[in-house]
Amino acid sequence: MRAVDLIRKKRDSGELSREEIDFLVSGYTRGEIPDYQMAAWLMAVWIRGMNRSELAALTEVMMYSGEVLNHSEIPGKKVDKHSTGGPIVAAGGLTVPMISGRGLGHTGGTLDKLEAIPGFKVNLSLEEFRRVLRECGMGLIGQTAEIAPADKKIYALRDATSTVENIGLICASIMSKKLAEGIDALVLDVKTGSGAFMKKEEDSVRLAEVMVETGKRMGKKVVALITDMGQPLGRMAGHSNEVAESIEILRGRGPADLRDLSLDLSAWMFYLGERTRNVEEGRRLAETMIATGQALEKFRQGIRLQGGDERVVDEPERLPTARLLFHVASSASGFVTSTNCEGFGIALAMLGGGREKKEDQIDHGVGLEFHKRIGDRVELGEPLATIHYNSDAKLAEAKSLIGESYHVGEEAPKEKRPLVRRLIGA
Ligand code: URA
Repeated sequence: MRAVDLIRKKRDSGELSREEIDFLVSGYTRGEIPDYQMAAWLMAVWIRGMNRSELAALTEVMMYSGEVLNHSEIPGKKVDKHSTGGPIVAAGGLTVPMISGRGLGHTGGTLDKLEAIPGFKVNLSLEEFRRVLRECGMGLIGQTAEIAPADKKIYALRDATSTVENIGLICASIMSKKLAEGIDALVLDVKTGSGAFMKKEEDSVRLAEVMVETGKRMGKKVVALITDMGQPLGRMAGHSNEVAESIEILRGRGPADLRDLSLDLSAWMFYLGERTRNVEEGRRLAETMIATGQALEKFRQGIRLQGGDERVVDEPERLPTARLLFHVASSASGFVTSTNCEGFGIALAMLGGGREKKEDQIDHGVGLEFHKRIGDRVELGEPLATIHYNSDAKLAEAKSLIGESYHVGEEAPKEKRPLVRRLIGA
């Protein structure tokens, strides 16, 4: 077999067999196939697409490129989610093994966010990861050399060759990692709208459908919530800011949309993890975990076990903060009609809160605070958002991008925007 023939086959819309996909992915992971051939194949896949059996083969080959964890020595069900919600569910008695990624481009990454906590270590060995899971029911690590190494290498190449936003490639990437975690069930939060990888709802639905189908075929219980990213979730963006806001949620405070989504995702995790008989009961259990302070205590324990300074829970000012504030004022009176959420993400990255290249350092202290949501009344000169920044040089571009990302019109939008738009696989 030769890589060049397989690139040509995909370029000409052919279907690759499992053996052919294995040859490419395994060869690339071992360093036998060069970046330029893999990049050409990825672009051919991006343009021509993959059918269901090619996608299944790609996901499985990527998953088995490393170790597939088994936590059967830990009693009870293991459930993960792609997005918001761990401490609530771990407090409620399930085990949540999370393998998460870093932010790239305009997107944020869970690993980077938790690293805002002084001392917090995400590069635990698998042995340490298992110990943390056994002790507190929740652990969060980055993709190690042992877990889906093919995805780690391919993701970096996709990021540099503009081949990220493709349903098959995203599905194989996310599901190969999640299926290697040793879980029984998975709740996916698939974003849609201006801030998401998939901007159009029908694309987000298709992505959710293939991920749910892939998980179910591998014997896991999976549901996906399609949720709105047409505007920011919660009021904060940025690493320290989002950790502080999550602590607010665990205290039973914080913005209603973020609280609701955390409860919804937790409710589904409780149900799929067979901790409750239905989703409504799951939601009540999630609310109880917050109201009794057990979820907050779980977060504190998780931070301690991963080497972090747990005092941030009571004193969030211990998180790195930015030195300077700038208020972005509205240039018109009226109502916020829409936002370009991707613009906020790019502005945050420009301030130092994101990476352009994998090796870039992140400034955990910079962030954005949103004062207005879609439908809100705003007066000329009133602050739309506050920028938390450290460098004047980075402010100028970011502030105009944020201003442009709020669209103010004369009339409030008629339609309400439900946060959870669809449920797939329930
Ligand atoms: N997150 C991933 O892990 N992979 C993708 O391809 C996109 C988002």
